[in-house]
Formats: sequence, C-alpha cells, structure tokens
Amino acid sequence: MDIVVCVKQVPDTTEVRIDPETNTLIRQGVPSIVNPFDKNAVEAALQLREKYGGKVTILSMGPLQSKEALKECLAMGADEAILLSDRAFGGSDTLATSHALAAGLRKMGKVDIILCGKQAIDGDTAQVGPEIAEHLGITQVTYVSKINTVDEQVIRVEREHEEGYEVIEAQMPVLLTVVKSINEPRYPTVKGTMKANRKEIPVWTVDDVEVDRDALGLKGSPTQVRRIFTPERRVQGEMMQADTAREAATLLVKRLVEIKII
Ligand SMILES: Cc1cc2nc3c(=O)[nH]c(=O)nc-3n(C[C@H](O)[C@H](O)[C@H](O)COP(=O)(O)OP(=O)(O)OC[C@H]3O[C@@H](n4cnc5c(N)ncnc54)[C@H](O)[C@@H]3O)c2cc1C
Repeated sequence: MDIVVCVKQVPDTTEVRIDPETNTLIRQGVPSIVNPFDKNAVEAALQLREKYGGKVTILSMGPLQSKEALKECLAMGADEAILLSDRAFGGSDTLATSHALAAGLRKMGKVDIILCGKQAIDGDTAQVGPEIAEHLGITQVTYVSKINTVDEQVIRVEREHEEGYEVIEAQMPVLLTVVKSINEPRYPTVKGTMKANRKEIPVWTVDDVEVDRDALGLKGSPTQVRRIFTPERRVQGEMMQADTAREAATLLVKRLVEIKII
C-alpha cells in the first residue's frame, strides 16, 4: 500500500507573543515544528503500514528549512520524504498550495491513501486537504478519528463531527484528513533520528513537476492578505460584590442583560 502524508512546518503558535509597542507578532526565536495534526497523520500512516505493509512517503511544500520537519517524520519511521521548494511557490494561498501539492502527488505516481492533518495551526483554514482531493479527482473523507479496515480497495473509517460519529466506506485512492483523537503520535527514536540524518531528501522545484506556473504563488492565489493585525486586548474583567449567592446571581444576570450578552 502506498501512503503519502502531507506535512507542513509551522511556527509553534503557543510560543508566538505580541509586541505591545508595535502590536505585531514576535516571530523571532519562535521554533518551527511539525504541524501537530500532521504528526497524527504520520502516526496513522505508520500504523497502516504496520498492519497492511507498504511504504510511507512524506510530502511538504515550503522553504528549505522545512527539511527539519521532514527529518522528524523520517525519524518517527517514514520511509521517504520529498520537499517541494521553489520561489515560484512563495506567497501561495490555499488554492495555489494545493495545486503545488497535487502536482507533487501526480509525479509520485500510484498512491492509495493520502493523509493530511485536519488543519495547520498557523493558516488555520482546513482547506488544503479537500482541495488536493478535488485537483486529483479522488474521494475525500475529512475529520477522520479512526481507520477501521482497508481491503479490496475499500477503506472504512470513522468521521468525527459535533453530534457524533459517521462510519464511512470509501473507494481508494482516497484522501483523509485526521483529527487529534485518532491516535497518540510516537516519538522519534535515537536509531530513527540517526537514520533520518543520513537520508537524502530530494527537493523538487517547479520544473520537476507538471503544473501550470500561473496556478502557483501570488499569481495563482485568488485571495490576497491585505492586512494583518493582532486582536484588540480584551477589557479587564469586572468584579462584583454581593453578600449572598442569590444576590450575586441577580447582579450578574442584570449586568449580562445590560451588555446584551443575554
Ligand atoms: C489569503 C492568504 C494569503 C497567504 N499568503 C501567504 C504568503 O504570502 N506567504 C506564505 O508563506 N503563506 C501565505 N499564506 C499561508 C498559506 O496559504 C497557507 O499556509 C497554506 O495555503 C496552507 O493553508 P493552511 O495553513 O490554512 O493549511 P490547512 O488547509 O489548514 O492545512 C491542512 C493540511 O494540509 C496539509 N498542508 C497544508 N499546507 C501544506 C504544505 N505547505 N505542505 C504540505 N502539506 C500541507 C497538512 O496536512 C495540513 O494539516 C496565505 C494564506 C492565505 C489564506
């Protein structure tokens, strides 16, 4: 079984702080990490390989430093990793990003299962996975929380949504996006890390894949970010004094009605 996992290197958003002087994000010194949902996707791929055999390849689009993220996935146990990197990909929105990744996937040839994270913690759109499936004309199942069985080119998965779960049967090739609850990603081993460090990571440029250049980068992006700003600071909380719980509740409800929350 040929499995490809799309992995994005992202800034660790839990470490991003706001400069109160300039009101901008302080990115300096913020470590880059493998997008957490993508680690779940890698773990799911490794478990599938353990059960059904085959090969796990990691695909990423990004600057050369993304190789570090790919190495981490190799150290977890992936077989191969490929990086799509070229100035022509820079400035891509989700449509252009998914065009580039779909072109990389087409070049790879036969793929049975493509795994993506539910969303990237920086862009936060959750659009890239479904868009790749559309470009490739294959089935997609999003928010997958369990992979039940794979046989005879049919995959059975559970899909998580607000009110419960759906059990879905889909024809392969298929693209799945996974949620956090699907598994607990394994840690890279020392042996795995050493092996990953020795592994060659091929870099494909725009000339290595078959893709319309006009579909990439800023040119291929139907959306443009016009302005980025930090959210306004919330006003300070308000303390209310009361002698009894009943009085406190009455005061609270009155205030909530006043400020039109209820
Ligand atoms: C309007 C707009 C303009 C933008 N302009 C720029 C810009 O100028 N420069 C810039 O650097 N970024 C830019 N971005 C960010 C860039 O478009 C997104 O980072 C990218 O499209 C991925 O979208 P996302 O982060 O929301 O991923 P999501 O759709 O949330 O990601 C879902 C899953 O798709 C896969 N995936 C996503 N991206 C990649 C990737 N690169 N490689 C491999 N797998 C991936 C992962 O499995 C991930 O879990 C822009 C975004 C928008 C919305």
